[in-house]
Amino acid sequence: MGEVLRSKTAELFNEPGCAKNQAKSEKERKKGCSKPLVPGAAAGGCAFDGAKIALEPIVDVVHLTHGPSACEGNSWDNRHAATSGPSTYRLGLTTDLSELDIVMGNGEKRLYRAIKDAIARYDPPAVFVYQTCVPAMIGDDIEAVCRHAAEKTGTPCIPVLSAGFSGKKNFGNKLAGEALFKHVIGTIEPEYTTPTDVNILGEYNIVGEIWQIKPLLEKLGIRLLANITGDARYRDLAGAHRARVNMMMCSAALINLARQMEERWGIPYFEGSFYGIADTSAALRTLARMLIERGAPEDLLERTEALIAAEEARAWARIEPYREILKGKRVILYTGGVKSWSIVSALQEIGMKIVATSVRKSTEGDKERIKEIMDDPHMVGSVPAREMYAKLANDEADILLSGGKTQYVGLKARRPWLDINQERNYAYAGYDGTVALVAELAKSLSNPVWEEIRRPAPWEISADIVPLDCGPQSRSGVGEA
Ligand code: SF4
Repeated sequence: MGEVLRSKTAELFNEPGCAKNQAKSEKERKKGCSKPLVPGAAAGGCAFDGAKIALEPIVDVVHLTHGPSACEGNSWDNRHAATSGPSTYRLGLTTDLSELDIVMGNGEKRLYRAIKDAIARYDPPAVFVYQTCVPAMIGDDIEAVCRHAAEKTGTPCIPVLSAGFSGKKNFGNKLAGEALFKHVIGTIEPEYTTPTDVNILGEYNIVGEIWQIKPLLEKLGIRLLANITGDARYRDLAGAHRARVNMMMCSAALINLARQMEERWGIPYFEGSFYGIADTSAALRTLARMLIERGAPEDLLERTEALIAAEEARAWARIEPYREILKGKRVILYTGGVKSWSIVSALQEIGMKIVATSVRKSTEGDKERIKEIMDDPHMVGSVPAREMYAKLANDEADILLSGGKTQYVGLKARRPWLDINQERNYAYAGYDGTVALVAELAKSLSNPVWEEIRRPAPWEISADIVPLDCGPQSRSGVGEA
């Protein structure tokens, strides 16, 4: 098992579709993509976490984590991936491997029993089995167990070789892509196909974002054969090999899958984004153009242009009331992946100014793209929390856009903060999503609470006012009175 994992890791580090990897020397490539893991790195997402993020949005299958229960507990449903039907994906099943199982060598038996039990209880179309660090270290052969369980039960069991120590979260995304390519895609033929079938890769239906994209495709007669993996059904994924075009949404997260699908089934792919008005229009145009090249009706491009014109006009009309509030407002953006560049262009589109953006988790391609679209490319880099705080506290920025972990920097500086990462509560994709983002930005910026808390306290202005003392002395004073 150790050997399998090692060779799989080496293969993924050599991804030919990854421009960053190709730019490296042979020696650098051997070292791999990840920086060496340091203790506690798993808190920022280990490879298992990354694989789980990429596959958990498949809503009708059982996701079974083989390992100690804490692995499952840490990764369960941490992205708010929404479903339009089944909720089997939210069960959070684990083999809960204990020390005794490890000492007694019971891991594989325990896994087999857990798979059988899950199938008997929930009758899913498939079971995804995730390997974590402990079973990988003791040598549990989850591929063999899955093969055996699938033969016995007749239900596909998909091994995901995602030992946490093999790399970071991004690497885990690729391991998820490998599992889909090797065991799922191409195993079932779709009931029918059309010349406008497409897949979207790396879209996880966070807070229901695919429902902001799908209606646009439907208006154009483009069928979303498989969304990989937001709100996905197992059957759709298994038949995804019949799509005419693949669109890669989340940067290079599933690039290995896109590249291999092109090699095996001849499906061309492109990287696009549905964040921001201009990027949404560009993605629709590229989809239409590539579909026509692959046999879709010629009038698709014309219809796409008509839809873009109508949707853009509608979106700008809805954004208009917020324009004055947002115009010239200075933003610090702290995010990664495809969002890093598409949100930059979306914010600039609506007249905001990016004063700093952290690209710590972005790929080289993402970074280059941001530099191209930023007014001042020097503002692109890694922004430590203390610098972000200083900018906000010294009134050099008006708002912080980041994930939940960084919110305290904004709150400590008493400046508005908006969540744009996976824990967000609003969907920001497509034209409607951009309008929602603008509305949320305007709400945060005009919320009177910020001005209130930035104002000096009364006792800071006048020496005659003393702050209320809620300490023990005061309490005893009240008692005596
Ligand atoms: S898979 Fe490994 S690194 Fe990841 S949470 Fe489990 S024990 Fe930690």
